[in-house]
Amino acid sequence: MRKTITIAIDGFSSCGKSTLAKALAKELSYIFIDTGAMYRGVALYCMRKGFLSHDVLNTPQIIASLKNIELHFELNEDTGKPELYLNGVNEESNIRKLDVSQCVSPVATIKEVRKKLVSAQRKMGDKGGVVMDGRDIGTVVFPKAELKIFVTADKLIRTERRWKELHAKGDQATRDEIMVNLLERDQIDSTREESPLRQADDAIVLDNSDLDQLEQLEIALGWVNERL
Ligand code: C5P
Repeated sequence: MRKTITIAIDGFSSCGKSTLAKALAKELSYIFIDTGAMYRGVALYCMRKGFLSHDVLNTPQIIASLKNIELHFELNEDTGKPELYLNGVNEESNIRKLDVSQCVSPVATIKEVRKKLVSAQRKMGDKGGVVMDGRDIGTVVFPKAELKIFVTADKLIRTERRWKELHAKGDQATRDEIMVNLLERDQIDSTREESPLRQADDAIVLDNSDLDQLEQLEIALGWVNERL
């Protein structure tokens, strides 16, 4: 049987981590798990309940409601991408909106939220053959992953990519709003007490500012092949 490995992809917001993870998973026939979608799912649930908004973070209510939140992924056969279901409803497009991006990082600082999601992520990936992207995959979720990639890119390029992605879906967010949000999330994610975003000591840095999707995939596949 062919050897399979665990691939952890971490990095700053909108660096193309999920794009790379999805392409690697397709190429290798691995499972792809976008852990950011799970934090976004929790944020969306809490926003709808009124426990979370731009100026509200009701931590006790959020913790108490975790037992009522069920998250899973189902593959969209047309796009080949797993989509997030929150309590049985497909919320893939709702979790990507800017208002969720603006509320998700504070929720992801809560220890109990992380505990629930990390435990689910470990279960999803415990058999190997998985590409998981997020902020703490190589440091906390799978510290023994055979390949850890830390993705980074210039903030203007990241903003432009996210702007194009949101506008293609009809979202009217401005470049300024997007850049403010990316930098704000990076700041919260890197400085929080619980599992802050940081490069694992044994991670390889991939700056994809000047790379297209195929070029970055080829580089990453080279690293995979060295480990197989
Ligand atoms: O990856 P994405 O940008 O969709 O993640 C949304 C947010 O979820 C991040 O800004 C971060 O606050 C949180 N997150 C996290 N740990 C992960 C994945 C995402 O804290 N493993």
